[in-house]
Amino acid sequence: MKITVLSLFPEMMKGFFESSIMARAVKKGLVEYELVNIRDYAVDKHHKCDDLVFGGGAGMLMLPDPLGRCLEAAGARDQRTVFVSPSGRLFNQAYARELSREGELVIICGHYEGIDQRIIDEYVDDEISIGDYVLSSGEVAALVLVDALFRLIPGAISGESLAEESFGGEGEAVLLEYPQYTRPALYDKMQVPEVLTSGHHAKIAGWRLRESLRKTLAFRPELLASAGLPEEVKKLLAEIVVEGGRHEPDPEDNGRAD
Ligand code: SAH
Repeated sequence: MKITVLSLFPEMMKGFFESSIMARAVKKGLVEYELVNIRDYAVDKHHKCDDLVFGGGAGMLMLPDPLGRCLEAAGARDQRTVFVSPSGRLFNQAYARELSREGELVIICGHYEGIDQRIIDEYVDDEISIGDYVLSSGEVAALVLVDALFRLIPGAISGESLAEESFGGEGEAVLLEYPQYTRPALYDKMQVPEVLTSGHHAKIAGWRLRESLRKTLAFRPELLASAGLPEEVKKLLAEIVVEGGRHEPDPEDNGRAD
């Protein structure tokens, strides 16, 4: 997949593409990327990229001219082109999966008050928000999109890791991931839940499902309504609700071994 990001501050994103799992995906040839500075497409001698907003109001808006030229050079008319914006459609795992299937993607990062609507009308296929808050510019939002989608490209990370995590598997959000532990089994007097070191796979799976349900009920109960849970899982959920939902540690026995 080729990802082209258009930005006034491309250097903000460089480290991401050069580190960790993304760097490996690039090396393996699964991802190709280009970080383009929109300012390079401003033709006046000051490389001006913003101006006042028609109709008044505080702040500056990115000029359509340099951005339009930059989009033409990036081949945006022939590729799926995304603008990250707080007034866009809300991003989620299903959306990431959809975008991960594109051969090429062009992402526009806004700055100041954002970009001229005519650029959106002419070039943008998707306006995407990463959440209900306002960032100072689009680079971090663009990286959120890129990070969520590149790891779904086959070969970027193991399929097993994908299937078991929150919002895992094909399609919609289901359950949040259960708590996880690593060595040592006893850390600062806190013991790993015994079942996890029992080697009993069915019991471990049962514990994980129960904890996933508890966590989802506590933090994201609306996911349970849309999850299409099998009957036996619904029964388990009803039990958890009767028990009082989220597992609160017993103050007399907080998992510490003392
Ligand atoms: N005046 C705009 C906010 C501009 S913030 C408004 O009220 O809608 C500047 C830029 O940051 C935006 O153009 C966008 O590219 C990026 N940005 C800010 N918050 C974002 C969010 N929640 N999701 C995606 N991009 C965001």
